Amino acid sequence: MTRPGHFVLLALLGATMPALAQTAPPDPPITIDTHVDIPFTYMREARFDVGKDTSLKVDLGKMERGGLNAAFFVIWVPQHKLDAAGYAKAVRQAETKYEAIGRMLMRYPDRIRLATSPAQALANHKAGLLSAMIGIENAYSLGHDLHRLDAAYDRGARYVGLVHVGDNDLCTSSQPDTEHGEPAMNSADDHGMTDFGRKVVARANALGMMVDISHASDACARDVLAASKAPIIASHSGARAVLDNPRNLPDDLLRAVAANGGVVQAVAYKEFLKKDPARAAAEEKLQAEVARQAGDKEYDSDKHDYLPAMAAGMAKIEQKYPLATVAEYVRQIRHIADVAGVDHVGIASDFDGGGGITGWKDASETRNLTAALRRAGFSDTDIAKIWGGNLLRVWREVERDAQH
Ligand SMILES: [Zn+2]
Repeated sequence: MTRPGHFVLLALLGATMPALAQTAPPDPPITIDTHVDIPFTYMREARFDVGKDTSLKVDLGKMERGGLNAAFFVIWVPQHKLDAAGYAKAVRQAETKYEAIGRMLMRYPDRIRLATSPAQALANHKAGLLSAMIGIENAYSLGHDLHRLDAAYDRGARYVGLVHVGDNDLCTSSQPDTEHGEPAMNSADDHGMTDFGRKVVARANALGMMVDISHASDACARDVLAASKAPIIASHSGARAVLDNPRNLPDDLLRAVAANGGVVQAVAYKEFLKKDPARAAAEEKLQAEVARQAGDKEYDSDKHDYLPAMAAGMAKIEQKYPLATVAEYVRQIRHIADVAGVDHVGIASDFDGGGGITGWKDASETRNLTAALRRAGFSDTDIAKIWGGNLLRVWREVERDAQH
């Protein structure tokens, strides 16, 4: 039997305790993701209209619901030959992506605005708006013409990633095309940065554009560190000591980026967090199958990644070979913080470019990552730095050092 007084107390507890337990911890002052990819038909095809619910990992609704306040949308182009036709194609492909970001900004000015400075990103957030920043991934798309870096700056690009998969006209890659004779990373023939690469770094410094060493070879990263007059970033790279992958940075480079005042934005990309060759093989098989069903010879991520057959196949693969978890990701953040210092680590998803893990599968789950950082023992002050404070500091210093 329950006495009435007891009942009242229980009712009170029942009314107040869950409410207390459910009080969410505070959001960081601003959350910035430094690497989000976009398909070539972004904002052109209805399925990639980010004002609606999409199957993209980042759309405006997912950012708003998940508390992801700002993202660098990336002008990525694949590496082709270093000849006139290759450069012309890369310039055109980059143009498509700038236009796509422009369409997003024009269509949804009440939800997302361009930020070309840290002050603008913070002002947008204060006004309840998302921020879109622009980063270049693979400066091959400059078409070997330094003037295009100025044009990119004028269009809002605020970081320039020198290279992607395969060496280019700026520097050697962490994933050179060895099948076509490019030297292996760290071999005697790995030449690092070229003269054009040096000119791009110098011009980026002068413009106030951050230089990004993600995808660069170790030799190129060291050359950039020696050449840059301003702090640099790795827009999406992990820690090689935790997971041995050429795309992750070794401890000596983590320390060198810290000494330079820069920041390493740890990336939530499965293969850089967990070795799983069986999953990789299963994904490759599925990609070939889906491409064949669509009547294509080769798999094309833009065309095939968002088809129902791909989603169904990936769900089956996920059951059998689960993705890396947010805890594994936080382990890398912890390592970078331990080696480089908590002032030199940040966050990048690589969403819609292969990124996404269990617990942070898309932008709508952003608060899960904040909670995981808290569980791992990071203070709210540290979390504020990791989620954007560090990146904004670097960006401000790069702006301050500019000479234009
Ligand atoms: Zn990348």
